[in-house]
Amino acid sequence: MPAPTDRLSLARAMYGAVPLYNPDSSPVEIDLTDNTNLWGMPPTAQRVLREIPASGASRYPSLYASEFKREIGRYLGVNPEQVVTGSGSDDIIDCALRAFGEPGDLVAGSEPSFAMVPIFSRINSLAWNGVVELPSHQPDIDRLIASNPRILFLCSPNNPTGALMARATIERAVHETTGAVFIDEAYAEFAGVTAVDLVARSNRVLVIRTMSKAFGLAGLRIGYGIGQPELVNEVEKSRGPFKVNAFAEQAAVAALRHDIGWMQEHAALAVETRERLAVALRRFGLEPLPSHANFLLVPVANITRVATALRASGVAVRAFPNLPSVGDSMRVSVGPWPMMERLLHALEPALRSSESSSGGDTP
Ligand SMILES: *Cc1c(COP(=O)(O)O)cnc(C)c1O
Repeated sequence: MPAPTDRLSLARAMYGAVPLYNPDSSPVEIDLTDNTNLWGMPPTAQRVLREIPASGASRYPSLYASEFKREIGRYLGVNPEQVVTGSGSDDIIDCALRAFGEPGDLVAGSEPSFAMVPIFSRINSLAWNGVVELPSHQPDIDRLIASNPRILFLCSPNNPTGALMARATIERAVHETTGAVFIDEAYAEFAGVTAVDLVARSNRVLVIRTMSKAFGLAGLRIGYGIGQPELVNEVEKSRGPFKVNAFAEQAAVAALRHDIGWMQEHAALAVETRERLAVALRRFGLEPLPSHANFLLVPVANITRVATALRASGVAVRAFPNLPSVGDSMRVSVGPWPMMERLLHALEPALRSSESSSGGDTP
């Protein structure tokens, strides 16, 4: 029998440089880390999930979630043939990178942005070129275009800054590149702005969306992409069949049929609460970045210490030590006002304790 092989040497060489995505997710009373819908899930989707006979689990779901595609078609005014679905929009990004990039090809994107994209790029043997954004928090589109990427990743509103990309910048990205252009719109419902219409004008544009944020269905893992049929077809090959589970599809279809009003109402509430929270944070002398999503990015010195102190008092935020173009900062999901009050209440002592302890995060 051959000697057992070291597990690491069995894995693809470049996986040595890929960390497991594993932020601190230990239970905490108020979790403001992941920008999900803190008001919960939409009522019809909830009822449908409760009422689905569990016996349905013995059969496979539809191959490519065709019913869900039909509803997305109606929701966004596109043809269902222009929609590809996946197990969360993470899956769409992963599959699309694989569909359009040959090993070694370049993926370019602004930094800071969605942290999973460099990881998925490496996992798919693609090279990542992160270009630090401009002081305006807009992507440095000249440098991104000049790097001539096979795939250009854009995110609007951007996670974690909350910045909405200027329409002119998106149009330049599409017109002045030759590769695929991904536009991640995970937070589009909060901004009321979309680039979906660009899909009709270019067969290189893939708009990536999700049911995880405004629609409150993160646990069901449903995301989707919109592009011209030939483009979407390639992503679908890369995706493979049966990726959206049967219960998730039924609940998401119900949400799109009956819960659009709930979604819009709560997206508006998130926007209103976000502005109220920004005002309250300014009273602490903090200056949150202008946001078009359901979260705020707040520059905070010594963020590692502040976040640890907040967690100790039952409130989790996403800490970004030394974030490119921003510096030490925290990202806070917006939710019902009592949750925001808990944050504000815990923040004052957390800020004070980090000031009184000596030095910053780095000795
Ligand atoms: C949350 C998020 C996603 C991923 O959402 P899924 O749950 O995988 O659909 C994708 N892009 C951005 C920018 C996000 O913030």
